[in-house]
Amino acid sequence: TLRGKTALVTGSTSGIGLGIARSLAAEGANIILNGFGDAGEIAQLQESLAAEFGVQTGYNGADMSKPAQIEAMMNYAADVFGGVDILVNNAGIQHVANVEDFPPERWDAIIAINLTSAFHTTRLALPHMKARNWGRIINLASVHGLVASAGKSAYVAAKHGLVGFTKATALETAKTGITCNAICPGWVLTPLVQKQVDARAEKEGLSNEAAKAALLAEKQPSGEFVTPEELGAMAVFLCSDAARQMRGVAWNMDGGWVAQ
Ligand code: NAD
Repeated sequence: TLRGKTALVTGSTSGIGLGIARSLAAEGANIILNGFGDAGEIAQLQESLAAEFGVQTGYNGADMSKPAQIEAMMNYAADVFGGVDILVNNAGIQHVANVEDFPPERWDAIIAINLTSAFHTTRLALPHMKARNWGRIINLASVHGLVASAGKSAYVAAKHGLVGFTKATALETAKTGITCNAICPGWVLTPLVQKQVDARAEKEGLSNEAAKAALLAEKQPSGEFVTPEELGAMAVFLCSDAARQMRGVAWNMDGGWVAQ
């Protein structure tokens, strides 16, 4: 059980982050949500997690591209929850374009949100974890932390960087009760991927269902999407005592994507 522990999941108002937050709450962890969205809907998410699982919930809307806001969020976590025991670095964005057409400001935003934010949350979470000699840091990388796809240079660079950061952090904490690992999902049907489905449907004149099937057929041998619930179960396992010697590894859950 994770009762008494506090988990901060960045980018948890939607998609994978929300799935992981729910799975950790189901194990009894208090949850700090982060991410953009309608204030009323976020308050409702908080309330439903608290009611369903009997945990404390909080929210901080820090923009993960802004180090000062990340610092304020970590101070909030310390003040209200006594610190972060489980840190899930999940916030991420995508932009698809070839290198010569890639808007430089999109490059900077992807590196800031998908990579640098994890440095800031981690550096600010580690002192508390070290004081308790327990912690779990889970970085949501991607199959694109292990292999590349055309049109995704910034995302691939950020995710490979995040896998490298995961390994370095794991080595620095190897003699402690803190572990750091990455999860590398294949296609998961979230708003981030639905945009790519829509782009494909538009470009090739396909229905939504046909565009989803085409996307999967290209990369994911299972022909099925991975789900946020499945990724949540993996995060719960990484938080368990059984996973205490899993350190610095990029764990893919990808329907066979990287096996090819
Ligand atoms: P999503 O778009 O559904 O959710 C992204 C979340 O991040 C939202 O809560 C959003 O509000 C938040 N966010 C975006 N920019 C932010 C910012 N600047 N500051 C704070 N929060 C911000 O996306 P998702 O598919 O659930 O992706 C979650 C993570 O999983 C990302 O890191 C993504 O790269 C990774 N991932 C996704 C897939 C996939 O197929 N969907 C595959 C591999 C990896």
